[in-house]
Amino acid sequence: HLDRIAAVDDHVHAFLHVDTDGALAAARAVDEKLATGEQPASPLAGVPLALKDVLTTEGVPTTCGSRTLEGWIPPYDATVTRKLREAGVVILGKTNMDEFAMGSSTENSAYGPTHNPWDHARIPGGSGGGSSASIAAFEAALAIGTDTGGSIRQPGAVTGTVGVKPTYGGVSRYGLVAFSSSLDQAGPCARTVLDAALLHEVIAGYDALDSTSIDAPVPPVVAAAREGANGDLKGVRVGVVKEFGGDGYQPGVLRSFGAAVEQLRALGADVVEVSCPSFTYALPAYYLIAPSEASSNLARFDAMRYGLRVADDGSHSAEEVMSLTREKGFGPEVKRRIMLGTYALSSGYYDAYYGSAQKVRTLITRDFTAAFERVDVLVSPTTPTTAFKIGERVDDPMAMYFADLCTIPSNLAGNAAMSVPSGLSDEDGLPVGLQIMAPALADDRLYRVGAAYE
Ligand code: GLN
Repeated sequence: HLDRIAAVDDHVHAFLHVDTDGALAAARAVDEKLATGEQPASPLAGVPLALKDVLTTEGVPTTCGSRTLEGWIPPYDATVTRKLREAGVVILGKTNMDEFAMGSSTENSAYGPTHNPWDHARIPGGSGGGSSASIAAFEAALAIGTDTGGSIRQPGAVTGTVGVKPTYGGVSRYGLVAFSSSLDQAGPCARTVLDAALLHEVIAGYDALDSTSIDAPVPPVVAAAREGANGDLKGVRVGVVKEFGGDGYQPGVLRSFGAAVEQLRALGADVVEVSCPSFTYALPAYYLIAPSEASSNLARFDAMRYGLRVADDGSHSAEEVMSLTREKGFGPEVKRRIMLGTYALSSGYYDAYYGSAQKVRTLITRDFTAAFERVDVLVSPTTPTTAFKIGERVDDPMAMYFADLCTIPSNLAGNAAMSVPSGLSDEDGLPVGLQIMAPALADDRLYRVGAAYE
């Protein structure tokens, strides 16, 4: 995999940092254990993985795709990182991402864009474009992403790979640099559903270091993926979300989705149409809640505690150092989010914006609850379009935000959701994703249906 990275990453740019020495040492440690006849620590011992650069890694740089954290070496591992190491997973390095995970194309990285391995002129999705591109380009066997509004599933869809957002609280957020704390969730990126399940079981589980971690057994995702692989969905009730489709969706994506629904039916699933009327308001609600939380979370980058500090020559006040550093360290999208969030939270506007968005969030959760009384899983296209061209939407934030239309509801409700490849669009020959959504703590249903379908 290190050779493959050396051969192709100049063109793909999936990695911000390749930890050659650390990876070889971890691989050697697994080999030595096996040579003594010891059992491997997990089924993934020795498997090379790429880690999104938003999870801390002790002794290895973590930038979150931002100049603000350039040169910062975390003194501790995120819980996800620790669990990977304990399982014997070989961490190859850190992957490129939109700055602080804000974006849908990886073009907001301060270190240049990642290219979609299917067509280097196109985006690999975002914010975790580096993670999904690395597995699509066979630079890593597995990857970890984080999904606040779609950043695992949308890159999965446009790179033809599997991406899973676990139930909120199912995977520890300790050491995941916070964007929007009530939405952020780390999860697996893989080339098959079973691979994703094996990785899911390694990283999931209760963690006392995360106050929103759920103290419940990890859903049996590996068993579900194995069960699904027999291709039988008899008795499984599948709901097609009526609100996703129509204007703004590429006909090629909708045709691929239609074929996917037919295939689920052919596998024995009972397919019905389900209406979730509040999903229409998910995008505006998300773009108030996520920036509000971000404006608060990013206050920690004060030029004193981490990374970049400019104008530090004694001639400026602490306040000037802070504002000059933040001006230089943050890119335009991060500044836009801080402005939006600060505005939405300010007195006089709080009830109208943040308060209303929270009410919409409750309505979306209720739509899911009502839907899951009728069906076991919901399905939709993962994204309205296939991978767009690099540069095409950079000057149009609304068009960029539109990429997450179908993925955001599951974040707002804290539910589990997966994107699984559903072939190539007959319009442009690019990968399309099928999104499968399940209730909180029913992540196993995604794997059963996803494995049967793939
Ligand atoms: N694209 C969405 C945003 O820009 C989602 C990002 C994410 O899931 N991290 O906020």
